[in-house]
Amino acid sequence: MCGIVGYIGKREALPILMDGLKRLEYRGYDSAGFSVANGDRIVTEKAVGKVAELENKINEKDIPGNLGIAHTRWATHGKPSERNAHPHRDCSKKIFLVHNGIIENYKELKHDLEKAGHKFSSETDTEVLAHLIEEYSKQVPFEEAVWRTLAHVRGTYGLAIIDRENPQKLIIARNGSPLVLGVMDDGYVIASDVAPIVRYTDRVIYLDDGEMAEVTGQSCKITNFKRKKVKKEISKIDWSVEEAEKKGYPHFMLKEIMEQPEAVENSIRGRLVVGEGIAKLGGLRDVSERLRRLKRLVIVSCGTSYYAGLVGKYMLEEYAGVRTDVEHASEFRYRKPLLDENTAVLAISQSGETADTLAAIREAKNKGAITLGIVNVVGSTIARETDAGVYNHAGPEIGVASTKAFTSQLSILALLTLFLGRQREMSFVMGKRIAEELAEIPKLMKSVLNQADEIKKVAEKYSKYSNFLYLGRKYNYPIAMEGALKIKEISYVHAEGYPFGEMKHGPIALIDKNFPTMAIATKDSVYEKTLSGIQEVKARSGKVIAIATKGDREIQKMVDDVIYIPKTLEMLTPLLSVVPLQLFAYHFAVGKGLDVDKPRNLAKSVTVE
Ligand code: GLU
Repeated sequence: MCGIVGYIGKREALPILMDGLKRLEYRGYDSAGFSVANGDRIVTEKAVGKVAELENKINEKDIPGNLGIAHTRWATHGKPSERNAHPHRDCSKKIFLVHNGIIENYKELKHDLEKAGHKFSSETDTEVLAHLIEEYSKQVPFEEAVWRTLAHVRGTYGLAIIDRENPQKLIIARNGSPLVLGVMDDGYVIASDVAPIVRYTDRVIYLDDGEMAEVTGQSCKITNFKRKKVKKEISKIDWSVEEAEKKGYPHFMLKEIMEQPEAVENSIRGRLVVGEGIAKLGGLRDVSERLRRLKRLVIVSCGTSYYAGLVGKYMLEEYAGVRTDVEHASEFRYRKPLLDENTAVLAISQSGETADTLAAIREAKNKGAITLGIVNVVGSTIARETDAGVYNHAGPEIGVASTKAFTSQLSILALLTLFLGRQREMSFVMGKRIAEELAEIPKLMKSVLNQADEIKKVAEKYSKYSNFLYLGRKYNYPIAMEGALKIKEISYVHAEGYPFGEMKHGPIALIDKNFPTMAIATKDSVYEKTLSGIQEVKARSGKVIAIATKGDREIQKMVDDVIYIPKTLEMLTPLLSVVPLQLFAYHFAVGKGLDVDKPRNLAKSVTVE
């Protein structure tokens, strides 16, 4: 959430900042702003709304300077307005800073600062930082003033700060919100994630919590809160610029939906040994023996990743025989989880920075559990803090509504099922069967995507409805939830996701001719039961769109519309059944003229609690 970008070096800062903001916009887009320093002259511009508004405002104005910071906001404290947009500054217009996160004790700090005569110009929590730094700068140098300020702060931050009196220096600091430092030949570009960095360099340093970097055009010094210098490794980014661009698609979301066969292919590549019916997961090598003794797995995640976890529970319990619980990370961290050394806690997070999931993992670590991660962003905090894990390798996901990361997570969970199952009682024959079917999934996904035009027509047909019920059983129950979430997220239409069997215990009361049902009714172990559920909906004049297995002619007679998906192993069905639901939600929202890549109130990579 919220995008930060900064630059110091030999080039003009503004074009780098503006390009970076556009690439980070999926992290927040209610207002944007920048400050560019040219010697001791600092120019700040802000605009409410998307980055394009800021661009219009500066309208090719020449704002020279080789040092700058910028921010695209996802408001937590204070409504989206120009006043509340970052960068924020102190009274003497000396300190300018951008912030991602929440300063929890800002009220008391603000109270004290106001008493000391400081005048505030925004309602944000962030602004206290600028005034505190100003206060300390009266006594100590810039870096030390920042340290002293941070010592007073409770909460989370990713910060980039400039000081009019130190025009050759950019200070960044992190606690809980990500920051990456890109090392260029002639300077440094810093950002909340690698998206704005890849076009300048593939060499990056990931800042850790409690660290601060003093960056000049030629060097960077990283210290920890004990003021000790830390030696950091330079990592290589493996994403290309092209991968992060739209490649001719009107939206990132559509591009990412269409990329799913490739994303799943990349997630399973080199990890499936079909002939032996096993999965090779290099990232779990170090904990492999501990996993053999594992008695219980707790999956912690949020949003779409949570639904991936639910599918994982069905897979892991049925095929690997490992007791699995799935928890909302935001709940797990605040209750008293009962964990021991034979429990593993598995975090699923696309960005690897989800604040709630990260906190859950830290809590699990404290309690002695093994911590694992399924993460897409290489080098992200969850990836670094867990004991072991598996990367998705799904490529960058920019669309706020997650699609390819989800199916990639499902494929990794299938690999994990194979891995843990074959460590236990799963037979060679069963292992081989799962491996063979999983290897086929990318091809089968393509055949679902080939029906994109028909799915678009179905979405158009239902465009006037403003309520939907999404139902599925067993493996497809989480998919019903995910399908409903997709439509809520991007078209702001009410949708309920429910287990099919639960319908009669409540939601059935909602059904009438204006409340259509999306029924996942694939030919699997619960098919007959699902058909009965469909009959119950039809008997109450409800319209039904079914996601059914290719060749099922029977269902066509019962429902209003059918979208077919190919047959696969029951546990892998979600990888196919979710695709029409993603396309349905996409076309439904586009038909309403909505910006599906930047749905209102949402942002990707939720780095606040
Ligand atoms: N808490 C700050 C604000 O509301 C920063 C939010 C963000 O991370 O964008 O301005």
